[in-house]
Amino acid sequence: MRYFFLAIPILLGSGLLISMGADNGKLEPPLSIPPDSLTGRQSTSNLEQVPAEMATRSGLKLEAKTLVKFKEMRAEAKKVGIDLFVLSGYRSFADQKRIWDNKFTGKTKVAGKDLSTEKNPRNKILAILTYSSMPGTSRHHWGTDFDIAFSKNNQPDSLLNRSWETGKGKEAYTWLTQNASRFGFCQPYQGTPDKRNPGAFTYGYNEEKWHWSYKPVSRNFTNAYKDQMDNLKPSGFSGADTGTEFYEQFILNVDPDCLTKP
Ligand SMILES: [Zn+2]
Repeated sequence: MRYFFLAIPILLGSGLLISMGADNGKLEPPLSIPPDSLTGRQSTSNLEQVPAEMATRSGLKLEAKTLVKFKEMRAEAKKVGIDLFVLSGYRSFADQKRIWDNKFTGKTKVAGKDLSTEKNPRNKILAILTYSSMPGTSRHHWGTDFDIAFSKNNQPDSLLNRSWETGKGKEAYTWLTQNASRFGFCQPYQGTPDKRNPGAFTYGYNEEKWHWSYKPVSRNFTNAYKDQMDNLKPSGFSGADTGTEFYEQFILNVDPDCLTKP
């Protein structure tokens, strides 16, 4: 019996050493994110409600660590008179499919155009992809990415770059570019897509000054998506076959800062 009791701490101790040695003691979360979580079909993120006073509408959710850091950043911005609200957070595959279908069928106009009249399938989906992701490929599926408004009622419309280029919007954007990284946030869609990662991609989303990402968590999602790319081809919505040509570029063509170690 005495030997039995002695053996336990030794086993536990050696197990601990092995697990520390495997990752050199660094806290790098594993890349085993299930495909359905990457595509928003079944999230494994720890999603939490964004408090109503911090959002433009109720019912918005963010990944738990992302929300903690957003709250910290928001409090800091408030000290200098800048108000930040979550305008859109986590979206499921079904949520994104609704946005996509409305544009695909012409219910929502894209840059003033009814796309139901566009007969060329490539042109049609590239027009939607200017700002909207194909269902299954949105960073909003991860809960780590969100759109920011700089007023509670979202006036002027924060989902337009020009709203961030004058007055209150410019103040907020300047503050974010100088301070958001201190809280772990990066802006995945900066500048023009062809210059974001020079020479690497032809396609990508246009600049989105309102879209921010919590890098310590989201970089793992991007890396996991990259690892499983061939198994995550677009499916389950109109235009998915045509979209297969582009999805990899739209997912990976993000600001390089969003992929570096925090
Ligand atoms: Zn967004």
